[in-house]
Amino acid sequence: MKKLSFIAIKKKSLLIFLVAFLCVCLFSVGIYYTSKSVSVPITEYVVVIDAGHGGIDGGVVGASGESKESDINLAYSLCLGAYFEGLNFKVVYTRQDDNGLYSEFATNKKVDDMKKREQIINSAKPDLVISMHQNGFTLPDQRGITAFYKIGHEESKALADCIQERFQKKIEYARAEALPGDYFILNCTNTLSVLIECGFLTNPDEEVLLQDVDYMNKVCHEIFSACVMYFIDSHKLTY
Ligand SMILES: [Zn+2]
Repeated sequence: MKKLSFIAIKKKSLLIFLVAFLCVCLFSVGIYYTSKSVSVPITEYVVVIDAGHGGIDGGVVGASGESKESDINLAYSLCLGAYFEGLNFKVVYTRQDDNGLYSEFATNKKVDDMKKREQIINSAKPDLVISMHQNGFTLPDQRGITAFYKIGHEESKALADCIQERFQKKIEYARAEALPGDYFILNCTNTLSVLIECGFLTNPDEEVLLQDVDYMNKVCHEIFSACVMYFIDSHKLTY
C-alpha cells in the first residue's frame, strides 16, 4: 500500500486511467458531434476545485490521531484536478498548499477563509465547483463516500446523483444516495456544484484506506468520469 505524499501527487499513475477514459470519452463525443449539440468547448470549461480547510483549521482528525482532513483534502483535490487538466479543462484551485486562505490579521479567520473561497469561485466564473472533504462522526463505525448538493438546486442534484451512482457501482461502502447539504461552499454560488465527503476519517479502516494512493486515484477517477459523462449526456461540452 503506497501512502499519500501530500506534496507531490504521482501523476504517472493517473495515466493508465486517463488513456482508458479518453478512448471511451472520444467515442462518446463523436456521437454528439453528429447530433450537432450546442455546447461549450472543453478548453473553455472552468472547474473550481476546493480543498476544504487548511492552515489552523485541520478539519476532522483521524481515528489514529495522526492524520488530518486538510492534508487529505489537498491530496485528493490535486489528484482530481490532474484528471481534469489531463482532458484540457481549465482548473482553478482554491488552495494548492497547506495554508488556509485567511489573512493573518483577520479577527475571525474561519469567516475570512470562507469569504476568500467565495471570491475565488465568483471571479473564476466556473461551470462546475467541486469541494473535497473527509467526514467524521462521534462513533467509529460510520463509513462510506457521499456526494452532497446544494438544497433545491436541481442540476447539482442530478450531477451528485450521477456521481453517487458511480460510487455505488465502483466503491465499496459507498452510501446509498447523494444527499442535500447545507454547506457554505455550496450556498455561496448558483453554479453547478457538489461537495464530496470521501469517507470517514473517524473509522480506523477507512482512515487507512483514504491515505492509500491507489484508493485516492480510484475515487478521483470516478468523480471525474461521472462529471464528464454528465456534461456529455446533458450536451454541455464538445471536445
Ligand atoms: Zn471538512
